[in-house]
Amino acid sequence: MTNSKIDSENKFIGAHVSASGGVDQAPLRAKEIGANAFALFTKNQRQWVAKPLEAATIRAFKANCQRLGFAAEHILPHDSYLINLGAPEADKLAKSREAFIDEMERCQQLGLTLLNFHPGSHLKQVSESECLRTIAESINLAHQAVPDVIAVIENTAGQGTNLGWRFEHLAEIIDQVEDKSRVGVCLDTCHTFAAGYDLRTPEACEATFAEFDRIVGMHYLRAMHINDSKSAHGSRVDRHHSLGKGEIGWHCFEYIAKDPRFNGIPLILETIDPDIWADEINTLREFHRQVS
Ligand SMILES: [Zn+2]
Ligand SMILES: [Zn+2]
Repeated sequence: MTNSKIDSENKFIGAHVSASGGVDQAPLRAKEIGANAFALFTKNQRQWVAKPLEAATIRAFKANCQRLGFAAEHILPHDSYLINLGAPEADKLAKSREAFIDEMERCQQLGLTLLNFHPGSHLKQVSESECLRTIAESINLAHQAVPDVIAVIENTAGQGTNLGWRFEHLAEIIDQVEDKSRVGVCLDTCHTFAAGYDLRTPEACEATFAEFDRIVGMHYLRAMHINDSKSAHGSRVDRHHSLGKGEIGWHCFEYIAKDPRFNGIPLILETIDPDIWADEINTLREFHRQVS
């Protein structure tokens, strides 16, 4: 859709906004909070099937994005929570793959190029490696079914049997994806921290992102979720908090706002109080301005 907007800020910050009333409403809500990036669900995230997007809705979505200056590479659709691309049981896997391809098709119809998803869970029925192989195969099948859209794997907190909490898991999936140009990673700061990687000081951030670079590669980083964490370091419990109010603290978010390695990609708040999203975005921009 729109070409990448020339933005002297270089930092693309937004939140996961509601798409109630239609996906075309999401860019309006993002604009209201001063965002230049946003995330959304393109269908009800708690249901398997959704009716196809209507042509008028697609047109309105594209027109709103164009008018308000949102480029495709700064919009991060998130898939349904029901999908498990590593499901051990054949029928669940088939259902998940079908739903994931539908999500990718919806992105493509909207002119979007990224699809953010949680990799999958082994449910204690198969080994980690087998589950990671199934996830990679699911991505390969989706790539064959739908052109253009990039599968953006989100790292997890490692709750239950969710994989993708170790950087090694992400690398093992990517390694088995055939089209490497259409796979990427979304690092969620809350998940990273809960999974056991420290982000509480600039030195800790330096070490954690160096480890990510060594094991996965920074060039695979296509997006970030910017969340503080209610749960403790290494707890493997996924509980988001507002920036600076949780266990991570502002140092991490200041570090990301100032570091040019996080320029150009969507930085998406999934923090718990939408009433202060505008303030959180402002504070991140302030940090960024201090270096630019
Ligand atoms: Zn997230
Ligand atoms: Zn989370």
